[in-house]
Amino acid sequence: MARTETAPAVRCAVVTGGSRGIGRAICEKLAQQGFAVCVNYAGNAAAAEETVAQCAAYGVEAFAVQADVSTAEGCNALFEAAMAKFGRVDVLVNNAGVTRDGLVLRMSEEDFDKVLDTNLKGAFLCCKAAAKIMMRQRYGRIINMSSIVGLRGNAGQANYAASKAGLIGLTKSLAKELASRNITVNAIAPGFIATDMTDAMTEAARAATLASIPAGHIGKPEDVAQAAAFFAAESSAYITGQVLCVDGGMAV
Ligand code: NAP
Repeated sequence: MARTETAPAVRCAVVTGGSRGIGRAICEKLAQQGFAVCVNYAGNAAAAEETVAQCAAYGVEAFAVQADVSTAEGCNALFEAAMAKFGRVDVLVNNAGVTRDGLVLRMSEEDFDKVLDTNLKGAFLCCKAAAKIMMRQRYGRIINMSSIVGLRGNAGQANYAASKAGLIGLTKSLAKELASRNITVNAIAPGFIATDMTDAMTEAARAATLASIPAGHIGKPEDVAQAAAFFAAESSAYITGQVLCVDGGMAV
């Protein structure tokens, strides 16, 4: 059996890309459940501060950290800031993500790299920084934001699909590496969720996607936050290496 920790008074979470959309909903949900929250963002400071205020309304400590997770410097600075403020990191949600859509024949190397660097390498770097801390604590919950596109592929999103499929491989491998340390690693695969990211879709693409959702409607960021809170819970200790679809039945 894994060596157990002495539980702290407050659990602390780092959420990458917490300024908007799904990340913001996760920050709020975790705050509602009593977690102190470090809200990471890339450039939108005003949105990040709004998330912080929404978390603080639940009476928990929350603060924003600007850091580009696609770089090792950014990830290290993020975890240094979280440790300086909280002294521990119990939960990491690798949520930051970008798209640069296009058919493979027209996709530039730059657009491929941008998506892989942010979505996959960023998660790897944050996992590495968090795992060091969590191993010392003998406790941790890592949650990686994949996508239904990582399971099924999507024409026009080869870079994005590769990054999200890669996250599933990362999740399963790291779950095996860290299970004996009382650290779980799981992934969420959202379907179609209403955020700035999906606002960019054309009406035709939106209608086609909607027709493929058995639930008959688009999901909300809060639907995904519910799954993140489940994996983040202390009581989810025996669940690791899993991919949970939050997609209104799309992947069934
Ligand atoms: P969104 O509304 O576009 O928000 C993206 C977030 O990521 C923002 O907070 C942004 O920060 C942050 N970010 C982007 N690049 C970053 C970087 N290099 N370093 C740090 N933060 C960075 O996206 P969303 O729809 O909420 O998606 C969140 C996650 O869920 C993504 O991983 C996405 O792939 C995944 N997902 C979304 C859907 C969906 O239907 N929406 C479906 C499946 C999976 P700023 O605000 O500072 O720009």
